[in-house]
Amino acid sequence: MTPENAPGLIERLAELDTRIAQQPQLSATRPATIAVRNLIVSLRRPDLSSGLADELEAAIDALSELLADTTFGIESDDLRTRIAAALHRHNAHSCTVCRYADLAIDSVYLITRPFPSDPALAPVQVPAASVVCKRCGAMRMHDLAVLGEL
Ligand SMILES: [Zn+2]
Repeated sequence: MTPENAPGLIERLAELDTRIAQQPQLSATRPATIAVRNLIVSLRRPDLSSGLADELEAAIDALSELLADTTFGIESDDLRTRIAAALHRHNAHSCTVCRYADLAIDSVYLITRPFPSDPALAPVQVPAASVVCKRCGAMRMHDLAVLGEL
């Protein structure tokens, strides 16, 4: 890296930062965002930075970890469309109570804890599709892994 290519690198890192910050997986994106922003600040003022190499390494580590996160990059609208298609494929695209075909679909985490077990144990998060009939309001859940969408 030279002082001449720093502005171009800063611009690309800023674009990367913007795209990461738009993702909904906050706890996964936060470390990468912090690392990338630290690197940008140091690239702008290399004379004030003592550890550019360390910051570059930290950014690479944080971005590698983010890319390894299985939920990173999944967009809610895209997932909703895929879930609707999967429900059609499995002939599960209408209300189980009144047979109405207009359903509200949302992807959610179901927070569960096995019973019986120690009540102090941390709950388990199960990615699921919440399906609500727009006519009678009947609700049901589909495990996204079983549905083939995770
Ligand atoms: Zn219904």
